[in-house]
Amino acid sequence: MAAEVSTDVLVVGAGGAGMYAAISAARNGADVVLVDKSLISRGGATIMAQMTVAAAVGEQEPDHWTHHLRDTLEAGRGLCNEELAAVLCEEAPVRIREMEEWKVGWAREGNHLKQVMAPGHQVERCVYVDFLNTGPAVAKTLRTQLGRADNLRRAGELTVTDIIVDGDQVVGAVGLDVETGEPVRIEANAVILAAGGLTRLYQRNSASVNMGGDSYALALRAGAELIDMEFVQFFPIGHLAPRMVGMDPIMWDPFRYKLGGRLLNADGKEFVQNYGHAETTDKYTAPRDVVSFAILQEVAAGRGSPAGGAFLSFKHIPEDELRSAFGPVIDRLAENGIDLRERSVEVAPIAHYHMGGIRVNTRMETQVSGLYAAGEAVGGANGANRLSGNAISEAFVFGERAGRFAAGAAAGRDREWSDAAAESAVERIRASRDISATDYGPSLAGLLVDLQEIMWRDVGLLRTEGGLAAALRRIREMRREIGDRPSESDHRFALSMQDWFDLWNGLLAAETIVLGAIKRTESRGAHQRDDFPRTDPGQAQNLITRLEGDALCVETTALVKNPIAVEPLEANR
Ligand SMILES: Cc1cc2nc3c(=O)[nH]c(=O)nc-3n(C[C@H](O)[C@H](O)[C@H](O)COP(=O)(O)OP(=O)(O)OC[C@H]3O[C@@H](n4cnc5c(N)ncnc54)[C@H](O)[C@@H]3O)c2cc1C
Repeated sequence: MAAEVSTDVLVVGAGGAGMYAAISAARNGADVVLVDKSLISRGGATIMAQMTVAAAVGEQEPDHWTHHLRDTLEAGRGLCNEELAAVLCEEAPVRIREMEEWKVGWAREGNHLKQVMAPGHQVERCVYVDFLNTGPAVAKTLRTQLGRADNLRRAGELTVTDIIVDGDQVVGAVGLDVETGEPVRIEANAVILAAGGLTRLYQRNSASVNMGGDSYALALRAGAELIDMEFVQFFPIGHLAPRMVGMDPIMWDPFRYKLGGRLLNADGKEFVQNYGHAETTDKYTAPRDVVSFAILQEVAAGRGSPAGGAFLSFKHIPEDELRSAFGPVIDRLAENGIDLRERSVEVAPIAHYHMGGIRVNTRMETQVSGLYAAGEAVGGANGANRLSGNAISEAFVFGERAGRFAAGAAAGRDREWSDAAAESAVERIRASRDISATDYGPSLAGLLVDLQEIMWRDVGLLRTEGGLAAALRRIREMRREIGDRPSESDHRFALSMQDWFDLWNGLLAAETIVLGAIKRTESRGAHQRDDFPRTDPGQAQNLITRLEGDALCVETTALVKNPIAVEPLEANR
């Protein structure tokens, strides 16, 4: 039987990476289908991002992409795939300028792009759209370009549940139509996985509901490999208290850098400088892993804030400076009862980004012919710790490349859909309707909450062998409890079926993090082991995860090195 949809390139996920990939594949001549489990361009992280995008455009002060690369590699604590990192840094300025041509509206100062400092960068390198509008502006700009592209079809509310591989070649995917609960078969010569990260698996996170690890589970089940899954980035100064409604929990960062907000312990003292990275109030350069660790240690030493974090204070800043920097945000804070002239807020680390991910080469190819990946789904470029602002650049750069290379590979190939290869994926959706009306199976919502608690407590900021082993046992039990297909269907909007697929993927992704964290018996970047507090130079290796049958296997592999000299600086303007 013919598939319901047929195309050259299927893009899974319509965040920054997926939209860029779709635009790029279409302009390189491919027929493209872009699908998302949410509405196109409204789900995932991209639209939520409010802050900065790193690119060495050198308009604020002299800069060069090799300097951005140096900072990226340093932040990555020796584990970056240096070829991917170089591509990211070299092409980021090209994508920033293309977005500018598409009228994204980067903030300007006089006749140049305004660029600001962010942690871990040595120069003012990060562009943004004011006020706290970077993600929405990026999403809107890419959405407009999608509308202008030829040969590009879009479908929201379609959850891809399996990538279909026949022999060793991708032939398409199967998705769940969220409204009807029916399977949809999509024939494609190439599939780009751009379904984002996994931080929703943690109790305290900055994520949307769609960031539960689908990318990684889909890739593993298709036969692709993952890299360095143990590295989850905790954003150090996520909002903790007082209660704040309708605002981004990670909004404090740009204001801290812009104004010199002070991070204080319960004794009213600045402390980050005591953890190996000197910070001065005019240049907050300490990377995220260092600041998260410092807050954790202050809390453990009894010098934390009442809610269990640190204080962030702007009380020393004159009111007119506060108002000019915060703009309309200051009124939204006032609605939440927060007057920054009078009081500090409490902040603490929050799961925010995933450095690990699908293993690709610089053409964004996985090990499976016809399967590509882009955006946060990809691992390796940022090593053990991501430099702030690199994630949106990565979505643009890797998205553009994935689209271009996938279009090239898909051109001229005959489509070869295989119902036999897709059968079990289709049946997994259909069979859920045949289950007895009295057998509702385990509470999926309850299991997700359990999983989030376990990940936060045992696989979070500070890990131990005992905690990781307990997490692994419980995650494996939960995998057995939910079985290999949904146990009920509510036919309309397929909510419980979606919950089941979310958990099926989330549990597999969670297990990859735990296994990596057990294997890495050292502390490095975002992976901190209480029982192995030092960095072990002998473990300067990547960890590769693959699925063999039903079992996950983790092994070490040599780093990808690509030495590039840092160029002398001159203004690009
Ligand atoms: C609150 C917040 C603020 C941030 N701020 C910044 C910042 O200032 N600067 C920066 O560089 N980075 C920032 N980041 C990180 C950055 O936004 C992300 O890494 C980046 O946007 C990821 O883009 P993406 O396209 O790979 O994934 P996403 O934007 O997450 O898109 C993935 C898409 O895939 C869809 N999807 C998932 N599973 C499926 C499936 N099975 N089938 C179909 N579709 C699926 C989702 O619905 C989603 O639309 C921030 C992240 C968050 C959460």
